[in-house]
Amino acid sequence: MQGCADTRKVFTKSREYRTNALRHLSNGVSSTPRASQRPVPVVIDSAAGVTLTDVDGNRYLDYALGYGPLILGHSPEPVMHALRDALDRGLRTASVNSDEAALADLIAANVPCADRVAFVNTGTEAVQLAIRIARATTGRCRVAKFRCNYHGWVDDLHVGCSPGQDGPATLGQDPRASEMVTLLDWGESDAARQVLDDSFAAVIVEPAAINAGCFAPPAGFLETLRDVTRRHGIVLVFDEVITGFRMSPGGAQACYNVVPDMCVLGKALGAGLPIGAVAGTDGVMDVVSSGRMLHRGTFNGNPLSMAAGVACVSHLQEHAARIYPRMERFAQRISAHIQHEAARNAVAIHARSVGSALQVFAGVRRVDGIGDLAGIDRDATLLLTEELLREGVFTLPRGLMYLSAIHTDEDISTTLAAITRAVRSHA
Ligand code: PLP
Repeated sequence: MQGCADTRKVFTKSREYRTNALRHLSNGVSSTPRASQRPVPVVIDSAAGVTLTDVDGNRYLDYALGYGPLILGHSPEPVMHALRDALDRGLRTASVNSDEAALADLIAANVPCADRVAFVNTGTEAVQLAIRIARATTGRCRVAKFRCNYHGWVDDLHVGCSPGQDGPATLGQDPRASEMVTLLDWGESDAARQVLDDSFAAVIVEPAAINAGCFAPPAGFLETLRDVTRRHGIVLVFDEVITGFRMSPGGAQACYNVVPDMCVLGKALGAGLPIGAVAGTDGVMDVVSSGRMLHRGTFNGNPLSMAAGVACVSHLQEHAARIYPRMERFAQRISAHIQHEAARNAVAIHARSVGSALQVFAGVRRVDGIGDLAGIDRDATLLLTEELLREGVFTLPRGLMYLSAIHTDEDISTTLAAITRAVRSHA
């Protein structure tokens, strides 16, 4: 991509937008973290491939990818073709459309735990449905989740999401909602073994802790969870909202060879359209399959998301051998380059990757585990991502980056050069 590295970028129109938006749009954004982007939440005018153009005419290589879903980049032709076709056949009905079963078949063909699938519209909804299924199946109420894992913004599970903060993540949560939730330390097999017993309905876990900062599971951790949950009749739920179709067509469970009872999918499944899904074994899904447990939602299985999902998963499945190793290699190259530049400039920055996701932290020289997250300087990380933005590299403000199937070698070279300049200005 040409024209990315422009350190004189101005953000006049994005700033004007923000001033106007704050009049009636609460916080000027539609999801709180977007307001933290520095120097201002950037207003994107158009997106094509992996290039974003903002309303001031600045261009960026996109590594935020719509918070992860755009695994095929912006407006990929197979998905756009399917969407045009679906649009021509009407927006929706109160009945079923054939792509619902087609997408369920594709998920079942790729995801090891998926005998049956139930669709909703977001990852958060899918988590809620998964927990309800686990409670309905076991007749128990307690749920275990792990510190620094994120499972959406529902009252009961939006706890213990940041280092050193075990309580509710935000004002307004019902503190009683999480009374049935037990927090465990991610990656600590012994603690899980000691705490879990026959009173738990579900254990929910990010199999690779992407939200915490891109950590692969320590050896034996997922296997321990599988073993303990099976022993106590607890439903093991992998939250694969990020890792599903991003780490491999079978998700993290296929990569790490540990098959849960149920997984939650979202993001990449819809290639940019809103979607969420629960996929599980016949045994746990029986309460939904039989109609004994309610699974409701006006927009569930909407034709546009289903069509996008079918096109996206078909493409990923067909081209998996080329797409996944390449995305992973690119993520490793970017992460290694950040580390290299940080060392060369003697600046406290750390980067790490897992699969096609990578995280850059500022304010720390090493983050080897979730226990080190307390040392991170969030403001310095926001500043670093501003420096990257000014050099034409668009990341999530908190430093999380995703690769897509269509980033090229040239994009990566451009990005590495931009990183060199951004790290130097951070020093
Ligand atoms: N689970 C994980 C692991 C996520 O990262 C997210 C969102 O980032 C969610 C659940 C919630 O998904 P959504 O934002 O689609 O509600």
